[in-house]
Amino acid sequence: MLRIHPLPAFDDNYIWVLTVPEQNACIVVDPGDEEPVLEYLEKQGLELSGILVTHGHGDHTGGVRELKKRWPRAMVWGPAREPVPVVEEHLGEGDEISLAPLPFSCRVMDVPGHTSGHLAYLSGDILFCGDTLFAGGCGRVFSGTHDQLSDSLRRIAALPAQTLVYCAHEYTLANLGFALWVEPDNPAILARKEAEERKRALGLPTVPSRLALELETNPFLRTAEPAVVAAAEAWAGRALNGHREAFRALRDWKDQDYD
Ligand code: ZN
Ligand code: FE
Repeated sequence: MLRIHPLPAFDDNYIWVLTVPEQNACIVVDPGDEEPVLEYLEKQGLELSGILVTHGHGDHTGGVRELKKRWPRAMVWGPAREPVPVVEEHLGEGDEISLAPLPFSCRVMDVPGHTSGHLAYLSGDILFCGDTLFAGGCGRVFSGTHDQLSDSLRRIAALPAQTLVYCAHEYTLANLGFALWVEPDNPAILARKEAEERKRALGLPTVPSRLALELETNPFLRTAEPAVVAAAEAWAGRALNGHREAFRALRDWKDQDYD
């Protein structure tokens, strides 16, 4: 049984720590800062065996060098299609990696858009997707393109509905606020907002989330829903054809008017 523990970092990042019972090896995902990782691994008596990097942004990679100093043999996996100097093994779509000594493997997905070479890692029904899909929202477009991000989100949306989405930021409440701009009357979004507010009031993470819930509440995965398309068209002031155009309008709407 894979255990996945969130380490909060900076204001709103999560660094994920993967362990299994009765082994002291662990894998971390997107260590933007070494401090919380060093502290947690020390306290738990864990040894780092590998680092998964989804993309090159500093809030996902800033701790890698220091962690390598402490655990020089830890492998650093990351994207082949964007330059990330700390990465040792460069991966792309369809690659399969072993997380040994943990008894798990991961399949690599290319999910460009937020950045040009962004990766997601899928192990069974667990998805580490960095800044591509967020709970209730999605990443901004930096070095990738809107069309890429739209296509990447559609590929994630096509995974099994029970998939658990481990994204890299706690942006959920703000994202659901925007989701309600798009679909003010969607009862699933209203119910989710209340449930996530209760978690945050208790200091609990809202991540991971089930893909099934994202499909019901995340506007960026709902670009074929008539209500979502109508709202995006009203904002854009023109007809929108297809997922990509609806996606682009939603992303621009949120970037320009919401935050
Ligand atoms: Zn990023
Ligand atoms: Fe980030």
